[in-house]
Amino acid sequence: MDVIRNGWFSEIQEDLWPGQSFSLKVKKVVHEEKSKYQDIKILETETFGMCLVLDGIIQCTQRDEFSYQEMISFLPLCCHPNPRKVLIVGGGDGGVAREVVKHPLVEEVHQVEIDDRVVELSKKYLPSMACGFENKKVKLTIGDGFEYMKNHKNEFDVIITDSSDPVGPAVSLFQESYYELMKNALRPGGIVCSQGGTYWTDLEYIKKTLNGCKNHFAKSAFALTSVPSYPCGHIGFVIGSLDENANLKEPAIKFTTGEIDNLNLRYYSTDVHRGAFALPRYVEKFLYE
Ligand code: SAM
Repeated sequence: MDVIRNGWFSEIQEDLWPGQSFSLKVKKVVHEEKSKYQDIKILETETFGMCLVLDGIIQCTQRDEFSYQEMISFLPLCCHPNPRKVLIVGGGDGGVAREVVKHPLVEEVHQVEIDDRVVELSKKYLPSMACGFENKKVKLTIGDGFEYMKNHKNEFDVIITDSSDPVGPAVSLFQESYYELMKNALRPGGIVCSQGGTYWTDLEYIKKTLNGCKNHFAKSAFALTSVPSYPCGHIGFVIGSLDENANLKEPAIKFTTGEIDNLNLRYYSTDVHRGAFALPRYVEKFLYE
């Protein structure tokens, strides 16, 4: 259930985040429809700019999306010494594609998104993110990421799963069998990175997903970024590498500050990469010990 009342949108999801909700003051409901897969809303908010909401859950806002998009892209890309071919699953707003194409070693980006309406509406109302689709390196396929993965073997260096939350069409992308499919779709030494919730409310779920990753990848870890419009103000990523010698916490490729600025990265840096893997003690204990 989501509510726009007295000019405020509230993200009320009792199953996912019981007893709490984040609210944004809305200037205008710019667009609203039910696609084949989900309820889609585009809101113009007073302080977070344009906002994409799917099935009542905030996906991205213009004000803070760069933190999420940069981190889900550059954490795995910089863990890989030569990320030439990348697959993005989900990511219908285009923000992850916009970031991935910035990496100087990336030659090809394939993206599979289930809902063409999210892509079309993002092109119309969220052009600062959807510009990612305009880059010549990006080839977009409309389809289910889980099914797509079954037909691709030994092909990608990095797979980024920028999915919605584990309800609706994205449920399969959080299952352990998805990690097995991704493993098969990767080239040797490949890396995966998926959005993975917040430790304040989803710790059991994070552990389950991380264990799914651990069972198929030589190295796995949980990393964090800060996103004020997500529940509890931050979100994590489950990252796995097929390379048993990989040290995920230390980037394989380190950009200088000048390079970071030239790439127009506002959140990611080598220090932020290292710090993203530092977890509160109780989380570290629960996930790793
Ligand atoms: N940054 C966002 C977040 O974590 O809240 C995710 C943004 S992106 C809009 C999520 C996309 O995943 C949506 O456009 C949705 O249609 C897509 N998606 C959900 N399930 C999918 C599936 N099985 N295969 C491909 N795309 C999927």
